[in-house]
Amino acid sequence: MAEKKEKEISVEAKLRALFDLQLVKSEIDKIKTLRGELPLEVQDLEDEIEGLRTRVSNLEAEISESTSNIEKRKIEIEENKAAISKYTEQQNNVKNNREYENLSKEIEYQQLNIQLCEKKIKEYQANVKDRRDDLEKANDLIKGRSIDLDQKKQELEAIVSETKQQEDKLREEAKAHEALIEPRYLSAFDKIRKNARNGLAVVRVVRNACGGCFNQIPPQRRIDIAQRNKIIVCEYCGRIMVDLALGNEEVKKTGYGITLADETESAAPVKKGKKSAAKD
Ligand SMILES: [Zn+2]
Repeated sequence: MAEKKEKEISVEAKLRALFDLQLVKSEIDKIKTLRGELPLEVQDLEDEIEGLRTRVSNLEAEISESTSNIEKRKIEIEENKAAISKYTEQQNNVKNNREYENLSKEIEYQQLNIQLCEKKIKEYQANVKDRRDDLEKANDLIKGRSIDLDQKKQELEAIVSETKQQEDKLREEAKAHEALIEPRYLSAFDKIRKNARNGLAVVRVVRNACGGCFNQIPPQRRIDIAQRNKIIVCEYCGRIMVDLALGNEEVKKTGYGITLADETESAAPVKKGKKSAAKD
């Protein structure tokens, strides 16, 4: 501690940088909270619309297939009818009964085929009708969802553009703080933040407890923290801890976060010496 090189950064400065970084990151978190579920909702709507579009094109393909099948069957019926009139005419010129009966069988076969075709046409027509209903529903859904999507997109864009400058400024500030912190602490910082629901990797000691997990910190450890000679992590949650006074100073300096009050002693500087450990 005594002799510092010019470029060497004191542990206290690192602790301040870490806490500053935390304050800045929490501000960025706030902006993201403001955007809330909007980015996800936009994504969901886009996915849903894409799914509906696929459905529409499948329905259109089915309708067009059924329509073309109807046409084919109609042609078949015309062919059957032509055959029937041909055979009926031939029946007028038969030489014997057998020939007549053979033609009758042919006519009967053609008639049966016409019936089959008519049945099929009805089925295809019913299918076309059902699929057209589905198509209309899907198109209505697309219309509705597209309106929702436009609205959500506008909301999101408004919030993003409102907060963009602020976010850019915060990101620049974060970089400046990161420059003062060793990579291993930075990666620890990121890792803790990722796992912590409140996004806190660096916390103040408040009411003798870790400000992240609220477990009590033993008196000696609190003294060590307040001395600012070492980077100390919470043994329960792994968060980096700073003393309340340092934290509050950084809150005032940066203008981010809130200062916390502490009825217990841990806010007071260590130099003041002995304090009652059991107030809570
Ligand atoms: Zn903790």
